[in-house]
Amino acid sequence: MALYITDQCINCDVCEPECPNDAIYQGELIYEIEAAKCTECVGHYKQQQCVVICPVDCILVDTDHPESTSQLQAKFTSLTGRAYASENEIDGELSQA
Ligand code: SF4
Ligand code: SF4
Repeated sequence: MALYITDQCINCDVCEPECPNDAIYQGELIYEIEAAKCTECVGHYKQQQCVVICPVDCILVDTDHPESTSQLQAKFTSLTGRAYASENEIDGELSQA
């Protein structure tokens, strides 16, 4: 499932540079997430980087648009051109090996 940002967002700017897929952008009033680019960080990190860093916990999973792990993996491959290699997904960034 892609994530979305609620109206509790305080426009602190810290999440935007953390997204490995450039899915976060400044919207008209608050920051927003482009669902087509959000893989829940699958392929890059074990944890959703925007959720980890948000100081007000206003980034939630969009349960109205469920995506399976395999769908998120396919989205990662489509966005990056890289094959998904779960064995390389470590605590930090995906291994380039
Ligand atoms: S979960 Fe990951 S990919 Fe999705 S918006 Fe947050 S940082 Fe970007
Ligand atoms: S980190 Fe949270 S509060 Fe800050 S801009 Fe992103 S969504 Fe808004």
